[in-house]
Amino acid sequence: MNQSSTTPFTGITLALSKGRIFGETLPLLARAGIVPLVDPDSSRQLILPTSRPDVRLVIVRASDVPTYVQRGAADLGVAGLDVLLEQGGEGLYQPVDLRIARCRLMVAVSQGFDYEGAIGRGARLRVATKYAKLAREHFAAKGVHVDLIKLYGSMELAPLTGLADAIVDLVSSGNTLRANALEAVENIAEISSRLVVNGAAWKLYRERLAPVVEAIAQGVKETFGEEVP
Ligand code: ATP
Ligand code: MG
Repeated sequence: MNQSSTTPFTGITLALSKGRIFGETLPLLARAGIVPLVDPDSSRQLILPTSRPDVRLVIVRASDVPTYVQRGAADLGVAGLDVLLEQGGEGLYQPVDLRIARCRLMVAVSQGFDYEGAIGRGARLRVATKYAKLAREHFAAKGVHVDLIKLYGSMELAPLTGLADAIVDLVSSGNTLRANALEAVENIAEISSRLVVNGAAWKLYRERLAPVVEAIAQGVKETFGEEVP
């Protein structure tokens, strides 16, 4: 099921990113009997064997997870809904909301900036974000004219330096916004991480993938309960 000619691995490859997503996915995988044999934070290895010889993890950038799974280099992946919405998630089946790495995609401005007033006046807003598509769609739906400024990180700095009037970014506790004298003014989307599956692999190898997908879904239920988030 792995189409690469450079590796003889024939089991299931799961792509995920280091940091928050890795840390929060680990307990769910453990409940499914999948425990990495290498710690990605202390190792430079990017392919991690697990306690199950037929399952391995590959460590990629968060925004690269869909690419690996779409192209079949990984069978499964863990990706934030933010990444999936921004990139489109074409060719991916999303069977499980993992209910981890939860946050909101929000519009934020400098404390005291009159956001509603600016919109009411029909002002053209300068908006800094790494979510160009989602930001464009959000403001287009509101009929607000924007100049989008594409950034790759540290969005909070943009209003503080005069680069932008507003940012579109992920917010969880709000501590980062507060620490930078910013305030959230609008909620765009509720975000959590999703298990994604290559759509073609799901059709061809369903009997091999489904037990792993179901075990992870069961782990989510045992961890967070049955109720809809
Ligand atoms: P990199 O840091 O490598 O540039 P990244 O910033 O996309 O990539 P992370 O910061 O680890 O990587 O974020 C990965 C995912 O975790 C995001 O796509 C999102 O789904 C989720 N996430 C990001 N920030 C938060 C947050 N503050 N609270 C909860 N979940 C978050
Ligand atoms: Mg980051």
